[in-house]
Amino acid sequence: MIGFDMRRGCTVSENDLHVTGTLIWYYYICHREVWLMARNMVPDQDNSNVDLGRFIHEQSYRRDKKEISLGHIKLDIVKNGKDGLVIGEVKKSSKSEASARMQLAYYLSELEKAGLEAKGELRFPKEKRRETVELTDELRAKLDLAVRDILRIAYLEDPPGPIKIKFCRNCAYNEFCWA
Ligand code: SF4
Repeated sequence: MIGFDMRRGCTVSENDLHVTGTLIWYYYICHREVWLMARNMVPDQDNSNVDLGRFIHEQSYRRDKKEISLGHIKLDIVKNGKDGLVIGEVKKSSKSEASARMQLAYYLSELEKAGLEAKGELRFPKEKRRETVELTDELRAKLDLAVRDILRIAYLEDPPGPIKIKFCRNCAYNEFCWA
């Protein structure tokens, strides 16, 4: 159950809000969720979908996983060999593949800003499928627009209203938005 005072979450200073890979992912799903997450309004931790996502993330590909932190983002390195650095993002399904691709592109762009060239690998362990993601000019431009719009949303005084979408059924904020 989410327990927070909505008005309390609305007073933020400029330094409180920053874009993360998770926000990029939600940007392509639900702008209301972007606002809630940007303000650290924690969703229902008992939600079974939160648990499943966390379990898959923790258990999958354990053998070759190492985590690195870069600023406020954490990245899973899956390979650092002759083909260069490869970072991975594990998802429980490919249903929101376009969002996942942009999230990984964001991580690649943050690495690039830090002077590191890398490729990305999206992994869907339940579907035994992987996809390579490379940063292109088109992706960079798309990311730039997304980052600006995420900050615009995050600084709105009130969250965008809820819009019923397929994702709501399994969203950890479901009770908050629709009860
Ligand atoms: S329940 Fe639906 S409207 Fe509410 S945050 Fe989740 S996806 Fe968005």
